[in-house]
Amino acid sequence: MLKDFFIGLSQNQLLNSAAKKYGLKMGAQNVVAGTNVAETIQSIKELNAHGISCTVDNLGEFVFEKEEALAAKKQILEVIEAIHEHGVDAHISLKPSQLGLDIDIDFCLENLKEIAAKAKSYEIFINFDMEDHARLQPSFDLLDELSKDYDNIGTVIQAYFFRAVEDIQNYKNFRLRIVKGAYKETEEYAYQDKKEIDENYIQLIEWHLLNGKFTSIATHDHHVINHVKQFVKENDIPNDKFEFQMLYGFRKDMQLQLASEGYNFCTYVPFGNDWYGYFMRRLAERPQNLNLVVKQVFNK
Ligand code: FAD
Repeated sequence: MLKDFFIGLSQNQLLNSAAKKYGLKMGAQNVVAGTNVAETIQSIKELNAHGISCTVDNLGEFVFEKEEALAAKKQILEVIEAIHEHGVDAHISLKPSQLGLDIDIDFCLENLKEIAAKAKSYEIFINFDMEDHARLQPSFDLLDELSKDYDNIGTVIQAYFFRAVEDIQNYKNFRLRIVKGAYKETEEYAYQDKKEIDENYIQLIEWHLLNGKFTSIATHDHHVINHVKQFVKENDIPNDKFEFQMLYGFRKDMQLQLASEGYNFCTYVPFGNDWYGYFMRRLAERPQNLNLVVKQVFNK
């Protein structure tokens, strides 16, 4: 119930637009690294100092105007430049819908090509975040087109989708982030039961660790993390074939612990003013994250 409530809020375009005007509020500052590139680079440097790499996301969704998509592209190009200039250990995560997927697919492809080319010139990796089902196949189509010319791109497999098992085989030669899935999907396309999602999640991770290129295991679930630790040990999978990923601000102690144990660890670092949808999805995933809001209210 609460999950549906927050997912509903995350898709409210009026609230989304209003939130952009007011800066980071409601505790979002605990889970968003900064509002601009300079603040974000500083946050990355702090994580790098602990041996943690970063994947940087210029927050944004509901982009239906070309100017807004072009502004997002400009911002991402600036981040790439800043990563290079500061020599920080970071790559890019982006959402195709922020770059024009919902406007015109060719326009989106041109934007993505520009980003991929610039990132490639500095050997910076680009990860396509995956969004809801309506955008899934179009995002894979864009990835197919881009990968004809660029090898510095990868994507996400969402374990709640029935098709994930085929997708992971088709994209096994890509660097893949494997997640449970964050959007509200219908039973036509996706498992609804948490146990089924968790089981599929483990199967996909194991399959890609054994058969695929580099695997990013993106979860805050310690059961999964402990299982993976055991699995890689039993199967002699070297540390340079995989990493753990978590979101900025979540389970900070565990992030540091995993890095200190010698595992590759990458923190997903969102930044910018368009934080609302991202933040609401985090509340939907784990209502305890409301603590972040409560703390903020009482810390005033
Ligand atoms: P959950 O299933 O939410 O939690 C399992 C258990 O873990 C909980 O019961 C609890 O015991 C423990 N736990 C979880 N969180 C905490 C916490 N904060 N503190 C203490 N215990 C906790 N989704 C997409 O659809 N597309 C994407 O591109 C995408 N990219 C992502 C990138 C990263 C780096 C991460 C971490 C997630 C991403 N997601 C993405 C979100 C993902 O799909 C899940 O919705 C989200 O990670 C919640 O699932 P979970 O695996 O973390 O664990």
